Amino acid sequence: MARAKKKNLTKKRSSPAGRIAREQSTAPEPNRLLKVWRRVLERRLRTRLRAPVAVDIHDNTHTMLTFQRYRALWRLRLHHMFLAAPDEVIQALADFVRCGDSEASGLLDRYIERNKVFIRRVSPEQMRKRMRLEPMGQHHDLGRIFERLNLRYFDGRINAAITYGPAPRVTRPRKSIKMGSYSADSRVIRIHPALDQPVVPRYFVEWIVFHEMLHHVYRTRRGEDGRRCIHPPEFLEHERKFHDFARAQAWEAENLDLLLRARVSAQ
Ligand SMILES: [Zn+2]
Repeated sequence: MARAKKKNLTKKRSSPAGRIAREQSTAPEPNRLLKVWRRVLERRLRTRLRAPVAVDIHDNTHTMLTFQRYRALWRLRLHHMFLAAPDEVIQALADFVRCGDSEASGLLDRYIERNKVFIRRVSPEQMRKRMRLEPMGQHHDLGRIFERLNLRYFDGRINAAITYGPAPRVTRPRKSIKMGSYSADSRVIRIHPALDQPVVPRYFVEWIVFHEMLHHVYRTRRGEDGRRCIHPPEFLEHERKFHDFARAQAWEAENLDLLLRARVSAQ
């Protein structure tokens, strides 16, 4: 892949009117400029990771960076604040992606903190307006489950929305299943549609919803070793207060393959 750095020079003109016209016609479109910067960033990362790199740039409000590896290719999703990051930050990105280096992780946190003025402010309510929320399943009504748990365990204080996630496009048998997730950006809990089956007991769905509600209460933080801690000890302790905790865990251990095999069709 050839990468060409582009410079946009505007020739000086004597007449101001002509100059304005000229500038307008050669002014880079924002998308093109973004593409160029993105490619520069890909190249900077590629030389440090010594592997092909694909970067997606986003404008998220909470998750500033995520990455995945597909065979040799590193795929990174980065906030646009990283587009023109200094070399030490790019090096930290590479170190963090390659081996979860905790020093690199700390440096990235400080960079994000220093650049937070570039993070767009969108309220969770605004984000939710653009989503389709489907809490009502055929067997389990997530809205009702959420409300009851909210009253019973949190004095009704959890201000979040809940929905079934979209039916996954995977048709092959799954190796693992993400039964729930919580987005701090939109404050939306998503539950895997495979849980909406009559064989899945209510207490099990409740446990998954309760777990995701706890993600709203306990944000991801850094442990003593500098690593990101998604389920800190106080989270796990709180989770054990769920009334059917042992039963739900036992059900999962016995029936996981049932969930993995579940065929889910789009509603
Ligand atoms: Zn979790």
